[in-house]
Amino acid sequence: MRLGARSLCPPGAAAGRPGEPGYAVAVRRYHVTTFGCQMNAHDSERIKGLLEELGLGEAAAPDEADVLVFNTCTIREKPDQRLAAHLAQAKALKDRDRERVIAVGGCYAEAQRERIFERYPFVDVAFGPGSIAHLRDWLGAGGLGVARGRFGTAEERRFAAALPLRRERPFQAWVQVSMGCNSVCSYCIVPAVRGRETSRPPGEIVAEVKRHARDGVREVTLLGQNVNSYGRDLAPTIRTGFAELLRACDAVEGIERIRFTSPHPKDFRPDVIDAMAECRAVCEHAHLPLQSGSTRILKRMRRTYGREGYVRLAAKLRDAVPDLALTTDVIAGFPGETEADFQETLEVVEEVGFDGAFTFVYSPRAGTEAAAMPDQVPEDVKRERIERLIDLVQRVAARRNDARVGRVEEVLVEGASRTDPSLLRGRTRRNTTVNFSGDAPPGALVPVLVEAATSTTLRGTQTVLAPV
Ligand code: SAM
Ligand code: SF4
Repeated sequence: MRLGARSLCPPGAAAGRPGEPGYAVAVRRYHVTTFGCQMNAHDSERIKGLLEELGLGEAAAPDEADVLVFNTCTIREKPDQRLAAHLAQAKALKDRDRERVIAVGGCYAEAQRERIFERYPFVDVAFGPGSIAHLRDWLGAGGLGVARGRFGTAEERRFAAALPLRRERPFQAWVQVSMGCNSVCSYCIVPAVRGRETSRPPGEIVAEVKRHARDGVREVTLLGQNVNSYGRDLAPTIRTGFAELLRACDAVEGIERIRFTSPHPKDFRPDVIDAMAECRAVCEHAHLPLQSGSTRILKRMRRTYGREGYVRLAAKLRDAVPDLALTTDVIAGFPGETEADFQETLEVVEEVGFDGAFTFVYSPRAGTEAAAMPDQVPEDVKRERIERLIDLVQRVAARRNDARVGRVEEVLVEGASRTDPSLLRGRTRRNTTVNFSGDAPPGALVPVLVEAATSTTLRGTQTVLAPV
């Protein structure tokens, strides 16, 4: 254990002299760098909330911060490499000022555990995704008396929901419904780093949604690795399925939009489809990860659905929810994937007509079943396939977006457009980004006439301007 790397005290706390008990240096600013999924983005809000509770303020850039936090992802090799580059920069900053604290949290920290300190000896504190509070314990104690390099164990994993929260936008909120995952997808490291699925009691979730609504939130996104298996582990007295949870959130006054991610196709039951169709606030969008269009590959991935089942489910969803947008995740180059298997993936992308897709080159993760499969696809073949996949996904999405031209869509305004500050930016209920001319403030719901489209965005004009 390393002691006294840097001490912290809440504002106003008396600072003693170096070496004396109670010696503390008031550290005022933090910077959090987030990698990976929405779950991580949400965890980062909790990390920021607890750092602010400890009296720190946010720094605009890492070089202005006293505490540098990296909330990591390890789903593929690429984020690992990006983290290494970020940590090299953090080390350079620390070399200039030894008092800086470097903290590494999230899935990479959990996967590496003690090795992180061997690999990056300048890291002061590390914590897994279920043990964000460890950061508070460590910093709150000024790095004293709390073991360096103690990670969350299965027993220690806790919902971050109990921690304070610093939200990016006052009108949107993520709400965690479960943590961990009970699936065994053969390529995926998530179950190893986030543990078995644990559902949050429904009362807590609905209470959080009500609190958000009172604070002015209009859109909530329910988060879980597999939201559709929500509730199976709950005690019989409070057992609630995902459909019931959607209906309970829909009943909360003030919540205009409900999103959720991700549902696993194997658990998408009719009651959830009915809830989507019937609940006013539940948006017309489902992110339904396909992974592969080949039943043979899906079997090797242990996804427990086949091509036909997936296509049937997509059709059922579109029948039940008119105007539904479907987005997906697809992996190219899974071990043993032949050109014929890959062709099947392309066929499904075309047949289902996705409105968007996250596309991934298969990345072997140490300890997963697929990483040990003998028939790994050569890198150049994976690259060539992902390029064809992206090309098709973009063509299909552009076609789908083109079909929106001429319609009026309800848009939740998020702020100024990133590409043209004279325009506003927002999202439709179908989760498509729209850049538009208008005068509405962030958080407003406004009608926008769609005038043009690309594969990823729409362009338009607000039809009803704010009264002057
Ligand atoms: N639980 C969610 C699900 O099942 O859809 C998402 C989990 S993961 C954070 C998001 C996506 O990363 C997955 O849907 C998959 O497409 C991709 N992914 C996971 N492991 C991967 C790997 N080893 N190589 C490439 N992509 C991977
Ligand atoms: Fe990973 Fe599969 Fe669980 Fe998603 S459902 S987190 S891909 S194991």
